[in-house]
Amino acid sequence: MFSKLHSSVKLLCAKNFLRKIPARFLNLHEYQSKGLMEEAGLSVQKFMVAHDLQSAHDIAAKFKVTEYVIKAQVLAGGRGKGVFDTGFKGGVHLTKKSSEVAALVENMLGHKIITKQTPKEGVKVNKVMVAEAMDIKRETYVAIVMDRESSGPIFICSPCGGVDIEDVAATQPEMILKTHVDIWKGLSEDQALEIAKFLKFEGHLLNKAKKELLNLYKLFIKLDATQIEINPFGETTDDRVICFDAKINFDDNAAYRQQEVFKMADHSESDPRELEASQHNLNYIGLHGNIGCMVNGAGLAMATMDMIKLRGGEPANFLDVGGGVNEAQISQAFKILANDKQVKCILVNVFGGIVNCSIVAKGIVNAARTIELKTPLIVRLEGTNVEEARSILSSSGINVINSTDLDDAATKAVASLKIST
Ligand code: GDP
Ligand code: MG
Repeated sequence: MFSKLHSSVKLLCAKNFLRKIPARFLNLHEYQSKGLMEEAGLSVQKFMVAHDLQSAHDIAAKFKVTEYVIKAQVLAGGRGKGVFDTGFKGGVHLTKKSSEVAALVENMLGHKIITKQTPKEGVKVNKVMVAEAMDIKRETYVAIVMDRESSGPIFICSPCGGVDIEDVAATQPEMILKTHVDIWKGLSEDQALEIAKFLKFEGHLLNKAKKELLNLYKLFIKLDATQIEINPFGETTDDRVICFDAKINFDDNAAYRQQEVFKMADHSESDPRELEASQHNLNYIGLHGNIGCMVNGAGLAMATMDMIKLRGGEPANFLDVGGGVNEAQISQAFKILANDKQVKCILVNVFGGIVNCSIVAKGIVNAARTIELKTPLIVRLEGTNVEEARSILSSSGINVINSTDLDDAATKAVASLKIST
């Protein structure tokens, strides 16, 4: 039983956590990332940002370059191959005519773009980058990520850029080089040169690529990034090495020392439930099911989600209220679940080790008094002060379905859906 549960926990973890970046992990727009890169001495194209049609016309009038590249700014990749809800194809367009800039921007602004990395319904484009296009001779791939296994930064590079790196990894794994970096020593000149050679830069381009790689690494550390992805990291026909596309993710634990970066956050694409939860310091990730879960401890939260699935249900969220949670946070967490139209039943699963069960019970009762609870509420409480908690709940007048253990709670939650539908 345990091993089955354990492996399905791992599966769920991977599926849920890799599917999307929760609101609390910061991801900037390409133009914002490139602004930071430009300041750090990296080679990016000149660009301007249009936020409405008038600014697009202004840019076309004053920004004179041989060729333009027009790019939709959303927090997702795959824009080049994306399609708009209007049928307009491509979130990245090239044109040599300044007279065409505004029309291309107009096709993107205010419309939803659907790419491999966006939700099915797409993401609305509120800003469009107008950049100086360059003749690309060759596209390569460079990423730096914080690697759990080696507990440090790792470069992932490939001479096959401009395409999905997952496809390269699946079909030509020999085309991918992974270089571990000692976080204390940083990326050495030799390592940078070795990567540049693997990326097939030659002659004096080798040195240019090396310099970009060293600067990218410095930026990664300086910004407390968890990921920098440059795809393509390209070579131009006039012998330049350019970061054509950039995606940077930041570690929210470092928000206090990266305040300038975190101020740039655009939350318009975030799940509003996740945003609200993050404002109350709750570990919350919205999912697609209808059983709202409030649990303490990430492990127990995942086991609860697994048990719900095992009993035929679908969790509406992952929510770990944590050990040091207070009454107000419990109320807030409960309100987020109760106000979520997707949620058809709430399951509270708390094991009071550090947390006091009576605080959880009081938080729930306070929240339930200010909202009209329309869904069944299944509660499994165990541990510190559980007797007092049970009496707080039973004397509150709230309709609680009590449960004895995790399996029982999940079974009752799934059954309650069948009764209420
Ligand atoms: P993504 O589709 O969201 O990854 O957006 P990118 O910024 O990577 O653009 C997609 C593709 O457009 C790139 O892989 C390039 O092939 C192409 N592209 C982007 N900028 C330029 C440019 O300045 N010149 C040329 N010729 N192609 C570009
Ligand atoms: Mg790209």
